[in-house]
Amino acid sequence: MSSLPNPVDHECLACYLYRMGNTLGCSRSTEALTHYRDYSAPRATALERKARLLGGNCDCEVLMNAFRPHTEEVEAAMEEGLDIICKGTRRGSIQPCEQWLMRRGVQWGGGQFRTRSA
Ligand SMILES: [Zn+2]
Ligand SMILES: [Zn+2]
Repeated sequence: MSSLPNPVDHECLACYLYRMGNTLGCSRSTEALTHYRDYSAPRATALERKARLLGGNCDCEVLMNAFRPHTEEVEAAMEEGLDIICKGTRRGSIQPCEQWLMRRGVQWGGGQFRTRSA
C-alpha cells in the first residue's frame, strides 16, 4: 500500500499531484496518480495507461503533460513552490478544478471513465 497522504475532500487530481510533488518532491513513479485513482476515482481504470501515453513517467510529468495553470495565481504559485488551494471537483472525477486546464489534445474521457457494461 502507498504511504502517501490521501487527497483531501474534493481535491482534484491536478492539485493533488501538485501538492505531492511540492511537499515530497519527484516520486520517480506514478504513485500519487495511482493513489488518487484508488482513493477518489476507482472507476478511472485507464488513467495510468493514459498518463503514460501522454509521456508522464512520474507524477510531476503527468501534471505538466496533462494540465496547465488556468490562473496567474496558480502559475505564480508553481514558480515559487507555494501551496495551491483546490477549488474542488466532483468525487469520482479525474477532471481538474477550475484552476487548471487540460492541455490541448488531452482526452481524459469526458471526465469520468465508465465501465464497459455501464
Ligand atoms: Zn517527476
Ligand atoms: Zn484543484
